[in-house]
Amino acid sequence: MLFLRQHLKPDQCSDDPNILESYSLDETGVYKSIPCAVVFPESTADVSLILKCCNGDKISVTPRGAGAGLAANSVPDTGGLLMIFSRMSKILRIDSQNGIVTVQPGCIVDVLKQEVRKEGWFYPVDPASSGTSMIGGHVNTNASGPFTYKYGSTRRYVMALEAVLADGTIIRTGSRTEKNSTGYSLTQLLCGSEGTLAVITEISLKLLPPPRLSSTALVSYATLEDGLNAILCLRTSSIDIAAIEWMERDAIEVVAQYEGEYGIELEPECACRLWIEIEANDAEALERELYALGDVLANVPSLNILIADEEATRQRIWKVRRVIGHAVRQYSVYREVDTVVPVSNMVRLIHTIKEIGNRMKFRTLCYGHAGNGNIHVNVLRESMNDRQWAGILTDGVEALLKEVVQLDGVLSAEHGIGLLNRPFMPLQFDAAEIALMRRIKTAFDPNGILNPGKVIP
Ligand SMILES: Cc1cc2nc3c(=O)[nH]c(=O)nc-3n(C[C@H](O)[C@H](O)[C@H](O)COP(=O)(O)OP(=O)(O)OC[C@H]3O[C@@H](n4cnc5c(N)ncnc54)[C@H](O)[C@@H]3O)c2cc1C
Repeated sequence: MLFLRQHLKPDQCSDDPNILESYSLDETGVYKSIPCAVVFPESTADVSLILKCCNGDKISVTPRGAGAGLAANSVPDTGGLLMIFSRMSKILRIDSQNGIVTVQPGCIVDVLKQEVRKEGWFYPVDPASSGTSMIGGHVNTNASGPFTYKYGSTRRYVMALEAVLADGTIIRTGSRTEKNSTGYSLTQLLCGSEGTLAVITEISLKLLPPPRLSSTALVSYATLEDGLNAILCLRTSSIDIAAIEWMERDAIEVVAQYEGEYGIELEPECACRLWIEIEANDAEALERELYALGDVLANVPSLNILIADEEATRQRIWKVRRVIGHAVRQYSVYREVDTVVPVSNMVRLIHTIKEIGNRMKFRTLCYGHAGNGNIHVNVLRESMNDRQWAGILTDGVEALLKEVVQLDGVLSAEHGIGLLNRPFMPLQFDAAEIALMRRIKTAFDPNGILNPGKVIP
């Protein structure tokens, strides 16, 4: 702390207990840990200086964006330093000729989206948290969202990075070129590394031309299977679909309770709904896409199909899907399991989730980016006592994740491993694979100061 005070401005670091307490959790809300100090770097030089000092004294450093992560990725190490990026939030350059934006890691993603839009460009990655979450957090968790169905996850857009290694060395990875077949891709290795390999200080992202016209379809089904089977039909069509989201009835009910209304009235026999976003370049093309959509949807019996072009109705339809995270949080303590399997295995996955829940006596709310096979399974605590809940957090979650891996899935689609999923890594990786990850970690961070306790078991 003394060193930081000597080299940084007085308001750039703090060990005030109230401030430390306010940074002791992330959105996961499960793990709490008080850092010894928080520091707010304002430049790459600050980051380098802080890391050099901490590495020498073997003090751990946890980088943090907005703390909106859902896997306890940025919960500080007890006694370590928490490095918060809210003061490195500038958009440094928008290169309109090449469609590249260069930005500091603390830039809030919605701000980034709005600013590039003013220059005629589009950044498509859109988690529901993007009004608060920062691009450094997105890169480090390889975040995605509903539009990942068409546009992919964050890593698809990361062209180049500036990063600082644990010993303070500043490196530059990747390039601003469209193609690059030059050596190992350190850029892609750092994407999704959850602050365990290096601290990212500058990010160059590829941009796209914005979509011209969009329509939203809301489709209701009488069974969970029908909704999920419809996704298989949609995926094999050539319709320009940007997003396919899915929610089971119980999840929609929880949103209705939170919002005080359904948005769009729920049919009594509805078991689940699909949200489908269609894009096109002009009105005629959009109409053609919507006809084609009707044909494809006719392959699976549905209760109702609502198509909306008008912005206000589209927003009303999407709101139910967008606020589910907040609604569940208000409803009950819960543990989100970020399952993802090949799309053809989703029906089996849902059956098994419900069967495990019945057997182990817990209830789940399921919804998510089902177009990509990604279903968020919210395991609810409801009225469980501490002992029962502790058992579900270990045995219940393990039973779910074992099944995910058996169905060719992985432990997390988009939230990452963090502290939350770290104990389950051996379900997916064998000893040789974990040992290789450890060697990579050691090559970047020999003293193990960067975000310790995360990712690698
Ligand atoms: C309501 C809600 C909805 C959500 N929906 C989605 C969704 O649809 N899709 C999705 O993918 N996620 C979703 N999330 C999770 C969250 O948005 C992502 O995990 C996001 O990437 C977190 O960004 P952040 O700025 O809060 O990062 P943090 O949570 O602060 O940090 C995330 C990780 O990045 C590391 N990190 C941060 N900055 C740096 C840096 N400069 N250098 C190195 N490491 C760094 C941290 O150490 C940590 O490991 C949702 C969260 C909420 C609360």
